Amino acid sequence: MKESPQEKMLEEALRSSKLVAGGFMGTDSRHPARVIDEDWEQLQKCGFTPAQTARRMQELTDLAAPGLGNWLEAVPGRLQVKSEDFKGALVCPWSHPGLFAKRITTARRMDTGDQIVWTDLNLHMIAEHGFFEGRGAFFRIEPADIVRILFEGLT
Ligand SMILES: [Zn+2]
Repeated sequence: MKESPQEKMLEEALRSSKLVAGGFMGTDSRHPARVIDEDWEQLQKCGFTPAQTARRMQELTDLAAPGLGNWLEAVPGRLQVKSEDFKGALVCPWSHPGLFAKRITTARRMDTGDQIVWTDLNLHMIAEHGFFEGRGAFFRIEPADIVRILFEGLT
C-alpha cells in the first residue's frame, strides 16, 4: 500500500515524541491504519463500536470530574471512577484544532480490581478516529479491556 503525503505526515506525527513522550504508536510497527482496523475488528467481535465505547468513557469522565481526584461510584458496588487534572494540554495528531486538557480518568472494577486509564485526548481519538494508540504507547488501551471493565456484567 502506497501512502499519500498526508498519510505519511500523520504516521510521522503519531510516531514522533513531539506531541507526547514516546509518541502514540509505542513499539507498534504496524501501519496506523492497520492498528485502527484491527482494533475495530476486536471491538466488533465483542459487539461494540468505537463510538459506543467512547460515549461510555465520556459519561464516566463527566461523572468523575466533580470528585476532583476522589473515587466516585459509577455503578454502585461494581465500578468506581476517578478524575485527575494535570498541567498542560494535548493536541490531536490528526491536526484537529483545539487543545485537550491533560485530564486522566481512571475506571476500576470493584469486583475484580481491574482498571483502565484514559485522557481526554484518548476519548477524542477513539470517538473521531477509532484510534486506541499503538502497542507499547503509554496510553494504549486494549479494546477488549474497555469492554471487560466498563461493560461486562454491568449492562
Ligand atoms: Zn482529531
